[in-house]
Amino acid sequence: MFDCVIVGGGIAGLQAAIQLGRYNHDVLVIDSGDGRSVLCNSYHNILGYPDGVSGEYLRSIGREHAGKLGVQFVLEKVEKVEKSGDGFAVSVHNGDIFEGKRLLFATGVMDRIPEIPSLYPCLGTSVYVCPDCDGYEIKDKMAIVLGSGNVGANMALTLYYWTKELAFVNHEKKNVDPELLHQLKEKGIRYYEEQIAEISEDNGQLKGVILKNGTVLEANHAFVAFGSNEVKSQLAKQLGVELLENKHIVVDPRSKKTNVENVWAAGDVVAHSEQVTIAMGDGSQAAIWIHKSLLE
Ligand SMILES: Cc1cc2nc3c(=O)[nH]c(=O)nc-3n(C[C@H](O)[C@H](O)[C@H](O)COP(=O)(O)OP(=O)(O)OC[C@H]3O[C@@H](n4cnc5c(N)ncnc54)[C@H](O)[C@@H]3O)c2cc1C
Repeated sequence: MFDCVIVGGGIAGLQAAIQLGRYNHDVLVIDSGDGRSVLCNSYHNILGYPDGVSGEYLRSIGREHAGKLGVQFVLEKVEKVEKSGDGFAVSVHNGDIFEGKRLLFATGVMDRIPEIPSLYPCLGTSVYVCPDCDGYEIKDKMAIVLGSGNVGANMALTLYYWTKELAFVNHEKKNVDPELLHQLKEKGIRYYEEQIAEISEDNGQLKGVILKNGTVLEANHAFVAFGSNEVKSQLAKQLGVELLENKHIVVDPRSKKTNVENVWAAGDVVAHSEQVTIAMGDGSQAAIWIHKSLLE
């Protein structure tokens, strides 16, 4: 039986694995190899990386670092988690079952991004998801919100803090409240209710957005805001872990412990600002308290 099984080997899970590895605990990370840190080609707000760093790079050096500390990895999707004796049984897609005395959920959130040709290479590089992370990148520059309904309209209004040159493409033609439409108009934010046909890009650098009706919007920066992102807390729910209405996991702020004995959560799946540095801090903090509990 492992001392701790970490479900999710993104930013929070890897940081927790490094910290637990340094206590010499037997740790297993089970990861399905997707997640936000796989999608983001460049983070711009991380201490030590003023020129940006990709999620894939952080993940690969994180795995290497944890591996040197004896942490084991399984690349599989966890499908079921249940209590078993004094610990937990974690079942993965291929039928294997792993047991752990402690459990850490670091499963993250997945953005809902409709299929738009050539969009993915731009994610993080010139197309962003989080104004707190990347609003600065569009300062006084033309930017397009690729979005849906009220969520897209609100994103455009938020971005007005950084730039006045904005357009919002309501790709799914979902309803936008009249009050929001009025605010867009008042601020001179151009509004298009039209499907996006494809993205024009060069090596991850956005060049423009081509709409189904043939309109071409030129810009080097965009934000996506389609709403209904998936909070990956379903496994935690199986164990009776308390969730907020928005499906984020509730934890004790100091220890990151959930309401279920010996179960922790860290990173975007917990309710707080969804950022890399916070996911790292969360992972470390959870690991410290998991260690304390293993000493008892
Ligand atoms: C395009 C984009 C740009 C971003 N830009 C920034 C930025 O500039 N700055 C910033 O601070 N943040 C940014 N973020 C947010 C940042 O990526 C997240 O805050 C960070 O990845 C959270 O780390 P995490 O470990 O909680 O989740 P993730 O990194 O998403 O990791 C979760 C992991 O859990 C695994 N997993 C989920 N379910 C299962 C399962 N059932 N079984 C096994 N494994 C599972 C996934 O495979 C994944 O590896 C951006 C996000 C995106 C998508």
